[in-house]
Amino acid sequence: MTMSPESIPASSFPELGLSDSLLRALSEEGYATPTPIQAKAIPHVLAGRDLFGCAQTGTGKTAAFALPLIDRLRETPRKAAPRRCRVLVLAPTRELAAQIHESFLAYGRHAGIRSAVIYGGVGQQPQARAMQHGVDVLVATPGRLLDLVSQRLVDIRDVEFLVLDEADRMLDMGFIHDVRKIVGQLPRDRQTLFFSATLPAEVRDLADSMLRDPLEVRTAPRSTPAETVSQSVVFVAKREKKALLVKLLREEATGRVIVFARTKHGADKLHRDLEKAGIDAAAIHGNKSQAQREKALAAFKSPRPPVLVATDIAARGIDVDHVAHVVNYELPHEPETYVHRIGRTGRAGQTGAAVSFCDAEERPRLVAIERLLKRPIPARNEPPAGHADDVEAAPPRERSEGPRRNAAERTRGRGRPGRGGRQGSRHSQGSHETQGASRREAREERPASGSAAVATPPRPAKPGRRKHRRAL
Ligand code: AMP
Repeated sequence: MTMSPESIPASSFPELGLSDSLLRALSEEGYATPTPIQAKAIPHVLAGRDLFGCAQTGTGKTAAFALPLIDRLRETPRKAAPRRCRVLVLAPTRELAAQIHESFLAYGRHAGIRSAVIYGGVGQQPQARAMQHGVDVLVATPGRLLDLVSQRLVDIRDVEFLVLDEADRMLDMGFIHDVRKIVGQLPRDRQTLFFSATLPAEVRDLADSMLRDPLEVRTAPRSTPAETVSQSVVFVAKREKKALLVKLLREEATGRVIVFARTKHGADKLHRDLEKAGIDAAAIHGNKSQAQREKALAAFKSPRPPVLVATDIAARGIDVDHVAHVVNYELPHEPETYVHRIGRTGRAGQTGAAVSFCDAEERPRLVAIERLLKRPIPARNEPPAGHADDVEAAPPRERSEGPRRNAAERTRGRGRPGRGGRQGSRHSQGSHETQGASRREAREERPASGSAAVATPPRPAKPGRRKHRRAL
């Protein structure tokens, strides 16, 4: 595993004071240098200090808490009592909980760490069984944990170390009461590590109520997307978004692509529309069953990934490197969410592209995002892709053979028409850069109606695509 845009060479894992068994696991994981949050947090967590970490997913925050906690456990070796745990990690989603659990297993593989994970949406029996003899580390979502605690299948009265991960999402998802209830049952004498990507007032309040003289660590300020992500915005009428998306997916957005929708309903509709247009897609959001979510994620991690249509909350738990494109089908209300979304690509030191569709109504949201980023997002000029209905009407195969793709690429199809080749192999940097027009020109050319901005003359229509275009 890799990830280094933020790594700082000045420090090394041995310098941080981690034990040999962890150093061995880290070298097996392929981690060469600590990321900034790891370098800043690990020595203090090892020393027993509470931590308030403001960090996004992708910064290496899981290892920042998991590594020192494994060593803290080993400093005072003792076996957890039946149904009890020594470390409790609370995470907002099943996916994130499962990933944190996997990280503890990977990092703790030479340290003899016993861990379990519990989350809702699946039978509770195996989870209760896993807790029967007690574990060192329990990773849990709040609702299921409270269920099991109330049935006396899990006992949290011995917790020595508490981690609250993605606190802002906990609040978004309405878990605040559950979290407070859980914290109320924990021993007061414990070490607490608190992480959140954003810092709304409620998060601060929650942190204040849980932490004692915490060390505050901030990395990757929320307004700073990775430099490796090339961003662009397309001004497009709402009704033309679907056709534009289909065009983008066929012609350039290949490899792993996440398309963000704002609502569960919107994600489902988009999923159906893409499938109708002959594009292999999967959807992930809070209303999907656990089995459906797992299936979608497994497919997305496979070498022939479908386009993943996701809502923000569901996507928070996705830890997949090599996402080549993020498409913001709708702009989020909170500017910070934009930074989270595009943080799904450009990870692990790879390049990535983030394309945002912006209709007339969404312009204030774009302004807010640009204010947060402290710079404009380059506008890109797209000839109108056509009306959504035109796209549905055309046979997929014919539409897949976009004129920009060469024969070799077409023969590498992966089931998704027009999306051949292995991830990254057709990732054309040039194709998602602003095509010549300055931001200002593009703004001036924005039609008041909100239809696609065309700051330069549209490319000549090509045979086979013409009928899918909408007349200007
Ligand atoms: P996280 O922010 O915890 O979700 O981690 C993001 C990704 O970075 C995961 O895939 C980790 O395996 C990876 N990672 C974490 N720390 C390092 C490191 N020091 N060097 C390389 N990769 C890392």
